[in-house]
Amino acid sequence: MSLGGQDELAFAAEHSGTGQAQRCWRILIVDDEPDVHQATTFALKGEIILDRPLEFLHAYNGDEALQLLSRESDIAVVLLDVVMQGDEDGLTVARAIRQQLNLNEIRIVLRTGHPGYAPEYRVIRDFGINDYKTKSELTQIRLQTTLTTAIRSYQQLKAMNTSRRGLEMIVEASSTLFERRSPESFASGALIQLAALLGLPPGGLICMRQPATPARRHKCEWMIASAAGDMQRLIGKPLTELDDAIVVNAIEHALRSRSSLYDDRFLVLYLNRMRDQEAAVYLPTQQALSDEDRQLLEVFCANLAIGFENVALFRQLQELAYIDPLTHLPNRTQFVSQLDRILKQPVGNELVLMLDVAHFSQINDALGHLIGDQLLQSVAQRLRPFIAPTVTLARVGVDVFGLVGPLPDMQLGALFESFERPFAVASHRLRVQVVSAAAHLADTEPTGIGCLKDVTIALNQAKRAEDGKLMWYSPAMSRASRQRLDLLHDLESAIRQRQLTVYYQPQIELDSGAIVGVEALVRWPQPDGSFIPPDRFIPLAEQSGLIIELGTWLLDTVCQQLIAWRDAGLSELRVAINVSMVQFNHEGLIDLLGDTLERYHLPHELIEVEITESVAMTRPEDVIAKIARLKALGVSVAIDDFGTGFSSLAYLQKLGADRLKIDRAFIRDMGLGENPYSIAEMVINLGHKLGIKVIAEGVESPAQATLLRSLGCDEAQGYLFAKPSPPSPLTHWFLETGMQVAV
Ligand code: C2E
Ligand code: CA
Ligand code: CA
Repeated sequence: MSLGGQDELAFAAEHSGTGQAQRCWRILIVDDEPDVHQATTFALKGEIILDRPLEFLHAYNGDEALQLLSRESDIAVVLLDVVMQGDEDGLTVARAIRQQLNLNEIRIVLRTGHPGYAPEYRVIRDFGINDYKTKSELTQIRLQTTLTTAIRSYQQLKAMNTSRRGLEMIVEASSTLFERRSPESFASGALIQLAALLGLPPGGLICMRQPATPARRHKCEWMIASAAGDMQRLIGKPLTELDDAIVVNAIEHALRSRSSLYDDRFLVLYLNRMRDQEAAVYLPTQQALSDEDRQLLEVFCANLAIGFENVALFRQLQELAYIDPLTHLPNRTQFVSQLDRILKQPVGNELVLMLDVAHFSQINDALGHLIGDQLLQSVAQRLRPFIAPTVTLARVGVDVFGLVGPLPDMQLGALFESFERPFAVASHRLRVQVVSAAAHLADTEPTGIGCLKDVTIALNQAKRAEDGKLMWYSPAMSRASRQRLDLLHDLESAIRQRQLTVYYQPQIELDSGAIVGVEALVRWPQPDGSFIPPDRFIPLAEQSGLIIELGTWLLDTVCQQLIAWRDAGLSELRVAINVSMVQFNHEGLIDLLGDTLERYHLPHELIEVEITESVAMTRPEDVIAKIARLKALGVSVAIDDFGTGFSSLAYLQKLGADRLKIDRAFIRDMGLGENPYSIAEMVINLGHKLGIKVIAEGVESPAQATLLRSLGCDEAQGYLFAKPSPPSPLTHWFLETGMQVAV
């Protein structure tokens, strides 16, 4: 902080008048004899005391004196006659000055025309009488020295009191200011406190250098961060918009010279104790400041600079905590607090929207992180126009953006339309699809975190739906999601505690009625004897990755069962196990099968892997390669739920599967309607053309079995022959039937 200095003096000389020399010392003469008034003013005419002329006020009795004193301010000395109408009128006035009017700075000089009459010392002390003279003693010279002493004492007292009050105000102002957390709010507080400190009406401005961000790179350096009074309209504008050339010059001069300056109409304080942040405070003062005021300002400015430094530091920390450095948008944390703020008020038609850049990780992997980052920046840029005073945009995940605001302000149609144009990133033109979900704040949990979680549930559903439509959140989604989560926890412990079991369902050769294999189907028994169906927990296990653990356990269990059957003399039984998408794509599948079968010394041919047609159709090259590896291992492969997808003949040929399993739905529909068995028949013919065996699942009636046999279907599985069953009754049944059923 610098107050004063060469520059300031040079500048002040150009612009200021004589300032303080204009002010006078005000002297009140209280006397009932007009002569005394005249004599006094005559004796002191033209006198300059401590650089200032004198100004006289006159009262002719005690009441007049008190009225005048309560009306006028800044009276330095009272020359007070002791004896007026009453013997001690003067003393009454003195008492009233101190005790009723509470004027403690004013100096009282008692005068009496009666030599020999002197008030007691106690009176002088108690009423704060500063001097006591007989009128005859007050010659011109004596009057001057008496007044000079009194005025000097008044001046010192006033300075002391002013600075005490000022310091108190500074302490108070600083603690109020230090609660402010943004430079803008701090600056406006500083202006208010500064004006109050100097007893001025609110006014003035603070300008600061804007921190350089890419968006603001080309804008003017000095911005008006805060302004009060009639300058408020300038907030956020460049300093040059201020249409007072002298003031602009003065501020620029202070900033350039890094020093404060005082004019007789205004002052400019330079603040520089901040990390890479300087500021200048301009305050109109109308008149030159007293020395006391300047000294106070010096203290205050030192405090201000520290405050600004703290606030700037806070801002930096805040930016790190709340701003996404890549897009400069608010981050997830800030979005959550914004939601919290909105949810604290009564909720109206506000909406949260979440946008997920579809397939971002593929783009990132294929084109590199640099392009990925640029794409996210472009997406942010394209969303920026939809920010409104009521609408907040944030980056809430790696490739997820969030918006919140009242529905009418969101312009959803235009927003989705804006993604139809491709994004130009480096030399690429990328078409980006967004997966979107929205929720009415009235429907979500009433906290920021809860609300975001709810919309995320809807977003995940939108991802699964894959239809590009905006998914609207409903509270039922949350309930379902919570149930799924509970179920997942239970499943995890069920797997760990070996509570799952495997049922087996026989597969029959339709020509001979021979039992040729079984399908292993997992079961999750409940304490009440019921089962949670695999259709409910398998997809969950799959989403959570638990399916790998489940599959490992299942294969182990199946192998132990194969050993048990071999020991019972049933050594030729093939077991089909279901392998889901995640399991099939898992790196360890081949090793798991190979290792487990080796460990149990079982022929690999006893295991068949069932993958659904939909799995078989994703990433054809990978699937073909994997099936080839399975077959090299000796394991056979069946395509489950066949007929639901649209495998081409050529692809099916390349795939190299051992068995096609006609989906249950086509068996159920067989024999109904006009051209009843077309799909089943087509699958059977297709399989035979390619040399692939065909098995029908869900065979429930003898008619279905007869029809399938007549169509040349190789094998069948269904309630007609046997329901899925635990191994021990099944083993009995096998032994009883001699592995042969009637067909
Ligand atoms: P899927 O592989 O298509 O299994 C055949 C389903 O049809 C089984 O249901 C079976 O009980 C049922 N089923 C058998 N015969 C008939 C019949 O005549 N009529 C009718 N209406 N249904 C019949 P389940 O056991 O409930 O299994 C459902 C699905 O769960 C399976 O469909 C399979 O995709 C999956 N799954 C079961 N166990 C496992 C497993 O260990 N691993 C994996 N990844 N998935 C499994
Ligand atoms: Ca199956
Ligand atoms: Ca099936």
